[in-house]
Amino acid sequence: MSLIVQKFGGTSVGTTEKIKAVAEKVAGFRDQGHDMVVVVSAMSGETNRLISLASDVQEKPDPREMDVLVSTGEQVTIALLCMALKAKGYDARSYTGGQVKILTDSAHMKARIQNIDVDNMRADLDAGRVVVVAGFQGVDDAGNITTLGRGGSDTTGVALAAALKADECQIYTDVDGVYTTDPRVVDSARRLDKITFEEMLEMASQGSKVLQIRSVEFAGKYKVPLRVLSSFVDGPGTLITLDEENETMEQPVVSGIAFNRDEAKISILGVPDAPGVASKVLSPIGDANIEIDVIVQNVAADNTNAITFTVHKNDLEKAKSVLAGVAEDLGAREVVGDDKIAKISIVGVGMRSHAGVASKMFKTLANENINIQMITTSEIKITVIIEEKYLELAVRALHSAFELDK
Ligand code: ADP
Ligand code: ASP
Ligand code: MG
Repeated sequence: MSLIVQKFGGTSVGTTEKIKAVAEKVAGFRDQGHDMVVVVSAMSGETNRLISLASDVQEKPDPREMDVLVSTGEQVTIALLCMALKAKGYDARSYTGGQVKILTDSAHMKARIQNIDVDNMRADLDAGRVVVVAGFQGVDDAGNITTLGRGGSDTTGVALAAALKADECQIYTDVDGVYTTDPRVVDSARRLDKITFEEMLEMASQGSKVLQIRSVEFAGKYKVPLRVLSSFVDGPGTLITLDEENETMEQPVVSGIAFNRDEAKISILGVPDAPGVASKVLSPIGDANIEIDVIVQNVAADNTNAITFTVHKNDLEKAKSVLAGVAEDLGAREVVGDDKIAKISIVGVGMRSHAGVASKMFKTLANENINIQMITTSEIKITVIIEEKYLELAVRALHSAFELDK
């Protein structure tokens, strides 16, 4: 008998019929004698609906009230799932994040989990109940409701598994595992039997939303056995493994391709080429709470600099207005923004021991006549920024060039 934490995403609980099907699945595990903790998301589309209600009412919705609002989605599904379990004769009890006491910091809409009180859940499990917990939400020290950022129910699932020292955390979603790239974009994408935490972390941080990045961080840090599975078809899914287990295996050079359409590019041109300029340009952006991703600096023939970086599309206008002030102070020529870009990353721990991966990537894009605007690399990934309209073409070409469909 083991303790299993299962998380079901929005599509998996999108209708009352699907909620009953989740109850059926959970009941099956219960019948095998397992202790079950189940985390659910809001019904599909519900969180988006709530967010759009908020923006109808207040131009920049108040963050505290936003969390009070969006956390309601998950409160609906925990209750319905418990009712569905009870209707089948299984004892179950629902918990909001605050009722468990998933303690977070106070950063509304992107709160981080600090502590989880397991006593109530343990008592229920001991009494033979299924514990059903609302994903995506917690409570801060002062009792305010907080949420963990979009996709945060994954993190609730993994964090509960870590706190309860569960034997496995299973993430049920609308695809049957982690694929070499988003299977909704590339038909020939292949399901991976295994992927390392390190690779999954890069895939998630570069835009693969199948797992929220924080959930992968948690799983790596607390060594939670983590598996991604389909709610709708049976199968082995994808196991996220510790690197050590894989070291003896022959690693493919590239394991997957992640991409992201959410960034915009901004350049400040004609900046004097002098010490301290990059800091003068980038510090005010950080001070304005805007996260910077890829950065490139080039020196022009006239000894001026161009500094280009990417930010989230939602931050483009704000970043431009911050830079307008900086440009004036520095006597820079111009500030230009572009939100028609996309970011593509190839990811693989096998890159560590292989040369020529970058040149193959660049050559593949060149063959398709796709211009690379920016490049950044780490030990296990290469990222490029290209024009957004070429995204799908580029991902397909790279997918086949690195033989990910084989
Ligand atoms: P849930 O509501 O269950 O949390 P999400 O929509 O957040 O589901 O995540 C699942 C989706 O992630 C899939 O439908 C798929 O389109 C997308 N996705 C992106 N990259 C990948 C990948 N490499 N493997 C599998 N799915 C991916
Ligand atoms: N319902 C939340 C969202 O849509 C959390 C989640 O589904 O993981 O982002
Ligand atoms: Mg998700």
